Amino acid sequence: MIEDEITLQDKLEFFHLVFAEEFDSIFSADIICCEKCVDEFIKYWPGIYINDQNFQTYSIQISSLYSMMRFCDFITEDEFNQFSSDLVCPRCNHELRGVIYPYNMPFNVPYEFEQLIGEIAKIAHETPFLLLANPFALEVFQEITKISQTIEPEILSDAVFRARIFHNETVYTAADFFAPPKEKVAEGRYNHAGKQVLYLSEEPETCFHELRSPQEGVMIANISIKKPIKVLNLTMQAQESNIINLIRWSSLMSSPNEGEGWHKPHYVFTRFVADCAKAAGFHAIKYPSVRFDEGMNLALISYSDYINDFQVDEIFLFNESNTKIEVLKQRLMESLI
Ligand SMILES: [Zn+2]
Repeated sequence: MIEDEITLQDKLEFFHLVFAEEFDSIFSADIICCEKCVDEFIKYWPGIYINDQNFQTYSIQISSLYSMMRFCDFITEDEFNQFSSDLVCPRCNHELRGVIYPYNMPFNVPYEFEQLIGEIAKIAHETPFLLLANPFALEVFQEITKISQTIEPEILSDAVFRARIFHNETVYTAADFFAPPKEKVAEGRYNHAGKQVLYLSEEPETCFHELRSPQEGVMIANISIKKPIKVLNLTMQAQESNIINLIRWSSLMSSPNEGEGWHKPHYVFTRFVADCAKAAGFHAIKYPSVRFDEGMNLALISYSDYINDFQVDEIFLFNESNTKIEVLKQRLMESLI
């Protein structure tokens, strides 16, 4: 009759004792947010939402955890539902109801970092020239300078691609794929107004999606850069720097929509990073696409130093079926400038 002696209070204590451990053994993750605060999480960490399938695919109803947990022989489903209503979200302290999001941040997030993001966004918005006065922004500059000392310029082994929205009446030449003239250059992700930066992608698909997948397709140039290039790598593979990860995955750098409300200041921060990179001797910044999973982009920030070193190997039309459908130009085997 031992079972009769186990009270509901005992079960509740047992539940709280083992819940986190059981949860971790199932998901190998923490609860990162709940349905009440997931939108706020994504606002601060858009890079994680956009680029990490683990975050996008792992959300679960808290009620469905019951059958997965080893204590289901000991605690009834009703008891589980009753006990789990005491659990609170580690992010917003709201009681956990409905859907929860198991996830491990793939880098260390300093205490109150999201508050820091807000402070930096405020400076970027109100007094952008003073960004370096912020201690974290200074750390970013120092980190990029430090990384620069470990990287040598290299010839890119693969071609890169640049696209224009396809217009039927245009006869495309290699010159159409170089940076626009200075007087036409508006502020961009990695360039100040009037500063030419060549935005390239590592895959034709990425070019297409970066231009928002136009129905009429895009004309793409396959470009080789013939001079060694020193690249600041901000992609998933470059995880050794916690500071780079923090800026890369947070709203500081991963805003998918330029000029949209709260996200607007982040183009200032990316331009700040471009300035840091340029001052540290980098010629280009490699960064993941926010519009195409696994797509990689390359912003050539030292464009004017490379203007005689491009070779356009072919120009082709690419459409929404994601296929290269027509080679319109013969291979152009020589640099065209
Ligand atoms: Zn929450």
